[in-house]
Amino acid sequence: MWEPQKQEVLDTAQKMSQRGFVVGTSGNVSLRFKDSVGRDLVAITPSGRPYDTMKLNDIVVVDLDGLRVEGELSPSIETMLHTEIYKVRKKANAVIHTHPVYGSIIAVAGLEIPAILDDQVTQMGGEIKVARYALSGSPEMTANVLAALGPRNAALMANHGAIVLGKSMQEAFTNCQLLEKTAQVYVFALALKNVTTLPAEATEVEKAFFNAVYGEG
Ligand SMILES: [Zn+2]
Repeated sequence: MWEPQKQEVLDTAQKMSQRGFVVGTSGNVSLRFKDSVGRDLVAITPSGRPYDTMKLNDIVVVDLDGLRVEGELSPSIETMLHTEIYKVRKKANAVIHTHPVYGSIIAVAGLEIPAILDDQVTQMGGEIKVARYALSGSPEMTANVLAALGPRNAALMANHGAIVLGKSMQEAFTNCQLLEKTAQVYVFALALKNVTTLPAEATEVEKAFFNAVYGEG
């Protein structure tokens, strides 16, 4: 069942791997959808499987408590991170967790990315915070990531990687690329020792735009 949803997860996971957002079997991708009785389900990549040989039926379907509804394989060990985000962020329908190079540089340095680019604020909600370190798959990691996300669509994870959300999978993947671009720009601007942040008035207007589209209020 749910072939179109599983296909979307598979296609995005393979794209994420091919474009270098993860190395090996790391990272995970999920899509939230409703079943025929209106229950929220989540299609998610399995634990520890290479992306290039991953098949449609390797994608696991779980409920919002992380319990497996369909599939033979174990869902990602970071499944709770995805389901807890969906519980809090009602407008989010796709979550992508990656280990990108420039995002990881910022996350290792423990630096927050201030609002430096227009599209960063309109698409991801502003500054990019770094979630405090916690072991992968632990409830503490989920709590730290939710705190770093706040109302925004992207965060970095200390000594680990990045996480992005979107209303759709396409949007989440765009944010995946946008976060890495923003991190790369910030790393080079820091190297040039001259970081100019966006004017406060621009950030305010762009945050209002973001909240109108993505705000949960
Ligand atoms: Zn990870």
